[in-house]
Amino acid sequence: MEQIAYVNGSFVPLSEAKVSILDRGFLFADGIYEVAAVLDGKLIDNASHLARLERSVGEIQLALPETIARIQEIQQELVKRNNLVNGMVYLEVTRGADTGRDFAFPKDVKPTLIMFTSTKDIVNAPSAKTGINVITVPDLRWTRRDIKSVALLAQVLAKQAAAAAGAGEAWMIEDGKVTEGGSSSCFILTQDDVIVTRQNGSEILPGCTRKAVVALAEERQLRVEERAFSVEEALAAKEAFITSASLFVQAVVSIDGKKVADGKPGPMTNRLREIYVEFAKATAV
Ligand code: PLP
Repeated sequence: MEQIAYVNGSFVPLSEAKVSILDRGFLFADGIYEVAAVLDGKLIDNASHLARLERSVGEIQLALPETIARIQEIQQELVKRNNLVNGMVYLEVTRGADTGRDFAFPKDVKPTLIMFTSTKDIVNAPSAKTGINVITVPDLRWTRRDIKSVALLAQVLAKQAAAAAGAGEAWMIEDGKVTEGGSSSCFILTQDDVIVTRQNGSEILPGCTRKAVVALAEERQLRVEERAFSVEEALAAKEAFITSASLFVQAVVSIDGKKVADGKPGPMTNRLREIYVEFAKATAV
């Protein structure tokens, strides 16, 4: 059966899901997106994703075409219509399609809202056992990375460079420090067992998985420090890992071809992954 997508009020087969060539998401990347994981047919940490959506659209003065409660209902309906068990729901809202290509905001144009799903067994992904290799690239992005904008060209190039090098993620570097991964938040575990992840601010996206992992670690009296770290520090660490909605917690076993510790996922990473999966299942909607 063909996959079902959502476009501006209608559930339609994916091949019929279309928006105008004048859509500002297409012309200007004038839009915001979110990705929420699905486990056993339920949305993971979705309140956090929808809170970030509200914040992001607010930062670009874009009014959502539906309430947050209705958006969650649409996500759930789409999961149901696709019989999705494990995977993700992607949603995007743009400033809509005007009659031409004026940069300034159009008047009386309804924002575009689209959603589609994809299948992925996040819990049993093979890379959860092996860990992933990362490469480093310069961070070429704009200065409002806290907004989850669909302008992802810098990340497309970063992740293509990673793919070409046989790596699973690119860590972006600015002023000698890691900002974040192409589509993930970065963590290390120092030799004295401190979990370090860069503090939120306009330099990085405030990751929902990052936020949950930090809270879960602190609840368990694990030491967490929110500050920037360098690649040298990551290579001298006990462990390194990344977090995202589509990976949960994932070990990083090498950076630019150099092993992190013994080049295997470490016990803290494995423990945090288990804790996160437990939290995800217990709070799914
Ligand atoms: N940082 C960037 C640049 C991302 O694109 C993403 C996710 O796509 C993340 C971090 C992780 O955020 P989350 O945990 O909310 O998926």
